[in-house]
Amino acid sequence: MRIVGTKQQVRDAVAAGRGEGKTIGLVPTLGALHEGHLSLMRRSVADCDLTVVSVFVNPTQFGPGEDLDEYPRDLEGDASACEAIGVDLLFAPTVEEMYADDASTVVSVSELTEGLCGAYRPGHFDGVTTVVCKLLNIVLPDRAYFGEKDYQQLVVIRRMVRDLDIPVEVVGCPTVREDDGLALSSRNRYLSEEERAAAPALHQALQRGAEAAREGATGREVERVVARALAQEPLFRPQYIQAVHPETLKPLGDEAGPMVIAAAAHLGGTRLIDNVRVEG
Ligand code: AMP
Repeated sequence: MRIVGTKQQVRDAVAAGRGEGKTIGLVPTLGALHEGHLSLMRRSVADCDLTVVSVFVNPTQFGPGEDLDEYPRDLEGDASACEAIGVDLLFAPTVEEMYADDASTVVSVSELTEGLCGAYRPGHFDGVTTVVCKLLNIVLPDRAYFGEKDYQQLVVIRRMVRDLDIPVEVVGCPTVREDDGLALSSRNRYLSEEERAAAPALHQALQRGAEAAREGATGREVERVVARALAQEPLFRPQYIQAVHPETLKPLGDEAGPMVIAAAAHLGGTRLIDNVRVEG
């Protein structure tokens, strides 16, 4: 595996692979890699001839007061994890390499980014879509892999790719969880022992909502079920609990049917998100 820091090195390595007729997979990450990330990489290594992983803590997707400075960084650990899986190229650029001083273009997906996390993290999705668009332009992959853990992000990226005619297949991958149901996240390492013990309550509450949804409950009823269940764990301070349409992300309200039940909640100083999908 090669570790490179410049766009030109990526372009050259990918062009050489293309010249040999190889298909290219891209897995964009913020690093501090865990089994969730690794599942995306394994999928890319299985599907594609050459897998590129990017590790870049993208400042433009962090808001003021968010954890940009504390965000865990471990390039050495990330590199060994990537190598063990069979990743071909690890792209770890600096902020200066990624953004010109006078960068003035933003890729912004409207509507889909207004609700859920978008309502509480202004500018976040513009940061995500801009950097993902740049990474897709740098790597020009056949496929790019994203986790359902960040469900809104996945839907927003699919929309960007469709709307801008970016020639890439976006592959969504299932959420990887701890045995107790907690979705893996680089931010889980912020949790104290007590908070870690409380953390599975978020997924458990969503599961209760999913059961109600399968029995025909409306979006609003599902949200109430989840809120009541999560209230059993007083350490959690919910930010939002919403049952939305899986593609439009519009709240279901008084309707029942296929839905994604998504929630964000603070546990101490850590903001956790999770979601479950209920098929029709
Ligand atoms: P991040 O480094 O948090 O930006 O995540 C990079 C990619 O890994 C995103 O597409 C995430 O959705 C995905 N991801 C993060 N956590 C998980 C998880 N527990 N299961 C599956 N995918 C995940």
